[in-house]
Amino acid sequence: MKVEVDLNKCQDHGQCVYAAPALFALDDQGRLSLRTQATDVYVANVDKANAEELYEAAEVCPLQAITVQE
Ligand code: SF4
Repeated sequence: MKVEVDLNKCQDHGQCVYAAPALFALDDQGRLSLRTQATDVYVANVDKANAEELYEAAEVCPLQAITVQE
């Protein structure tokens, strides 16, 4: 499965970090750490073992910045 994070929508609220700490983190400045790996849209494969966390993160993101693809 794949995750897409639209970093233009994301406002670093961090709810995804609480919902899926294995997948998301904030950096020292309180910004989503994925920003160092992409500028606009971060795309990555995610192990199905983390599916539940990933869907939870997508659901709680207040900006709907996280998209999950099977
Ligand atoms: S919950 Fe959404 S807006 Fe907040 S840091 Fe995660 S992706 Fe960004």
